[in-house]
Parts: sequence; structure tokens; C-alpha cells
Amino acid sequence: MNEHLDPSGTNFSEEERHFENSLRPDSLQNFSGQEKVVENLKVFIQAAKLRSEALDHVLLHGPPGLGKTTLSHIISNELGSNMVMSSGPVLEKPGDLAGLLTKLGEGDVLFIDEIHRLNNVIEEYLYSAMEDYRIDIMIDSGPNARSIQLSLHPFTLIGATTRMGLMTAPMRARFGISCLLNYYDYPTLEGIIKRSAGILEVPIHDEGAAEIARRSRGTPRIANALLRRVRDFAQIKGNGTIDLAIAQYGLEALNVDDNGLDEMDNRILQAIIHKFNGGPVGLSTIATAVGEESGTIEEVHEPYLIMQGFIQRTARGREATPKAFRHLGKVPPPSDSNLFT
Ligand code: ADP
Repeated sequence: MNEHLDPSGTNFSEEERHFENSLRPDSLQNFSGQEKVVENLKVFIQAAKLRSEALDHVLLHGPPGLGKTTLSHIISNELGSNMVMSSGPVLEKPGDLAGLLTKLGEGDVLFIDEIHRLNNVIEEYLYSAMEDYRIDIMIDSGPNARSIQLSLHPFTLIGATTRMGLMTAPMRARFGISCLLNYYDYPTLEGIIKRSAGILEVPIHDEGAAEIARRSRGTPRIANALLRRVRDFAQIKGNGTIDLAIAQYGLEALNVDDNGLDEMDNRILQAIIHKFNGGPVGLSTIATAVGEESGTIEEVHEPYLIMQGFIQRTARGREATPKAFRHLGKVPPPSDSNLFT
């Protein structure tokens, strides 16, 4: 997959991260889509402010690039509080967590990305911090070992995860607010692209924005990344404006197909159809066939392919749908039901 189209953003360079941050909306008003989530958050934030209490802990889950980090910044802004950021794999020792928690002032936000990757020990410590705003820390070891209790200011933990299924039940239960982010529809993505083009000061036609939106896998991170690349094509191969023709030209050159599927999405479909006769086939077998980690397939590629109706999950594994066969220019096999008619 092209690095700049990486929906998870994990392979981003400093410069790409800076680009992404420059396009982040900073208020709920500028955050498009996810209407239900936004409406609910508005109420919970207002209520917490009215009562001068810390907002209840918030869990944001959904595929990468849909706005979890952006929303947590916005929540913190709307609360008028500071935010401290960390991520599951970075927090190795209880001392790491204690260091972050003691930095928090009253009503501040602690954001933990990839919260499903916290180790068990840290998770246990987090429970008492979340419930009672205190943490018992062991200091020293051997005969001098003793535990001291630290009191914390009331704070809000915002956890983000792409893998809700990997979170433990006790951890999940400690979040009073849980928001699922869904893929964005084309008109919303078109709006996001136009807003980003405005910030980047690149002229864009409606048709150009619509074309990029249609091929962005329902993901704002990809929409912004494609916009950035198409802008290069517009400036070098065109007259600087992104119209339909230059958008199509650029997207073709970037290997983004008509349905917005990227190279890896297509390789997955090809593997299921060409190597395994359309399935059913297990996730780990697909992963080996395409040379990608099964976790990445499960959290990045599969949800979109399922949502778009290219594959389905059955008890026996993943199956390609007739739409996937047609997408690859192949005739779908007769369905089981046809055998009986
Ligand atoms: P996640 O944390 O879910 O992986 P991010 O919050 O980092 O995703 O969002 C990725 C990029 O997409 C950011 O640059 C952000 O500006 C943009 N983005 C995400 N959601 C929206 C939205 N609803 N409106 C406008 N831009 C968005």
C-alpha cells in the first residue's frame, strides 16, 4: 500500500503528521458527520460543565482515520481543559502512568490511543484512577517495598481503539460514554475535502472534490492524503485547480480504483477469488497469501470491504460476494440458492 494512503497513520513521517494536524477541526461545529455522536457529546459536555464536574470517561472506537484523535482534542477544547496524550504500547510501567495522571489538573483530559494495547498491570492501576481518582503505587522493592497512595484531581480518560473486541470487559465497563465512529458518506467527505482545500488555499471544483470523496474509503484521513497528492498533479500537470479531469488523472496514477479500493483491498479480493475460489477462507490464510498482518486486515481492510459489500464473514471464514467477482471482471459462481431453483 502507498505509505501516504496509510489509513492508520502509523507509518507517517513528521511532515505528514504536521500536515494532518493543520487540517484538524478544533470545535464540534467544524467536525462534520458522525451526527449522533456529536449531538450526544454536546449534551454530555454541557451537562458536565453545568455541574462543574469532570466529564465521564469516554471510549471512542472505530476504524483508523475516522476522527478519534480529532474528537478527543475537540472534547478537551470544549471542556476548556488541558489534554495529556499517550498510547497503550508506550505505557510500560506503573510509574509511566502515575507520571501522566499526576500532571492532570481538575477536569483535564488524559487521552490514551490504542487503549486495547495496555498491559494488564497498567490496566489494573487505571481502574482505581478512573473510579476513585486515586492510585496506589509501590515504591522500592524487597524489604523496603511500600505502597503510597496518590490522590488525583477528577479527570476524564478518553480511550481510542480500533479493536473494541480486544478490550477486556472490566475496562470497557469503566467508560460511561462509548461512541462508535462509522465510515463517512460521500457528501460529508466532499465537505471535508473542500474545507481542507480552503485551508491549503488550493482551488477545487465541486466535481473534483466529489471524485476524491468517492475514492477515499469513507475515511477523512485518506481524503486529506489524496487531496494533498492530487494538488501536486494539479500544480505540475494542470493549471493548479483541482477539477474532475485532474482528480481522475491523479487518482489513477495513485492506483486508487473507481470504488476507492486501494492496492491491499484489491489484493485481498484477488486472493480470496483467485487462490481460494471465492472462499470461505480463514483470516490468517488470507493474511499469509497477501503478505499482511491479520490484525491490519481485520481492523483496516475488512470493515470497509464488508461495508461496501465485497466480502462477507461467515462461520466458516471470509467469502467474496458476486460484487467482488464483478469488480475483478469475473463471472460470479451461481449462488447456493440457485442450485435449488
Ligand atoms: P483517528 O484518530 O480515528 O485515527 P484522526 O482523528 O487522527 O483519526 O483523523 C485523521 C485526519 O482526518 C485528521 O487530519 C483530521 O483532520 C481528519 N478528520 C477526521 N475526522 C474529521 C471530520 N469529522 N471532519 C474533518 N476532518 C476530519
